[in-house]
Amino acid sequence: NESKGKLPKYPGLERWQLLEKMGDGAFSNVYRARDLDGKAGEVAIKVVRKFEMNSSQGDAHLHPNFKKGPKVVERANILKEVQIMRQLDHPNIVKLVDFAESRQYYYIILELAPGGELFHQIVRLTYFSEDLSRHVITQVAEALLYLHEEKGVVHRDIKPENLLFTPIPFIPTKNPKPRSAEDEDKVDEGEFIKGVGSGGIGQIKLADFGLSKVVWDTQTMTPCGTVGYTAPEIVKDERYSKSVDMWAMGCVLYTLLCGFPPFYDESIQVLTEKVARGQYTFLSPWWDDISKSAQDLVSHLLTVDPNKRYTIQEFLNHPWIKGTEEPTYAAL
Ligand code: ADP
Ligand code: MG
Repeated sequence: NESKGKLPKYPGLERWQLLEKMGDGAFSNVYRARDLDGKAGEVAIKVVRKFEMNSSQGDAHLHPNFKKGPKVVERANILKEVQIMRQLDHPNIVKLVDFAESRQYYYIILELAPGGELFHQIVRLTYFSEDLSRHVITQVAEALLYLHEEKGVVHRDIKPENLLFTPIPFIPTKNPKPRSAEDEDKVDEGEFIKGVGSGGIGQIKLADFGLSKVVWDTQTMTPCGTVGYTAPEIVKDERYSKSVDMWAMGCVLYTLLCGFPPFYDESIQVLTEKVARGQYTFLSPWWDDISKSAQDLVSHLLTVDPNKRYTIQEFLNHPWIKGTEEPTYAAL
């Protein structure tokens, strides 16, 4: 993080005082900032340079833990990101507060999620218990249910870096149940849960609509655009694109439960092949103690055929999600 003195001054952002840099990607710098008028409180401001938006660098969204990889999908227009966010209002989705621009930059002013990325919490805890995983993934599913069914929007970049915590989950102590010597100095989940206070273990906020797309007109229940001249693969593609988010959610759930992603290889070619074939395993010993029910749910999400892959409704009806098979964490 940069010190206060080194934070840049952006033209057109005079209403906001930048406090700290929270994230930087290939496309954007994100700052925590304060409203000098005092009305909006603290916010996150995503600053995007106007002329680098078609750069070939970016996030690889094939792989949830792949921070700096090659870009797989062209970055959508920033104005579309804002236009889509403007229509959204859901407790598990980061809200758009305001939008501004200068000659060189776009400024997307967002509801602040002070707890940071789920990515960091997985690294910190090594892995999440089934109860904590359920708590997290259910909130992701609530966000997707709203996007898919109510707004006809697909996110297309679901991954632990784009899932943010609010408030701050904290208090690092030793992990009482290390799975390996390496895990011994990781954070204890019980302490983690207590650290976010009595209001539960924190809320998840879905962020980063930079790759999102409106695919389905919820009024007419048809694909967007003029259907009459649209090729069948496009019509199908629009329908399948929701299932893209379901696959990604399967990757997130897998990663939460065991601490590493389902698909990984140092070589992008090999990784791409593995994903294309849906080649993953519930690796022993890490998956030995994870319930068959959780594995069943993951496998219904990581299904190569999008027609057979779980929809959001099927996901929500699964016994592991409904909690009808495991005790809940009421004791915590
Ligand atoms: P990019 O398109 O560069 O991936 P994101 O919108 O994902 O941009 O923002 C980059 C990072 O900035 C996120 O991964 C997160 O760490 C941080 N960030 C983004 N929005 C917020 C927010 N509303 N509150 C807190 N941190 C945020
Ligand atoms: Mg992102």
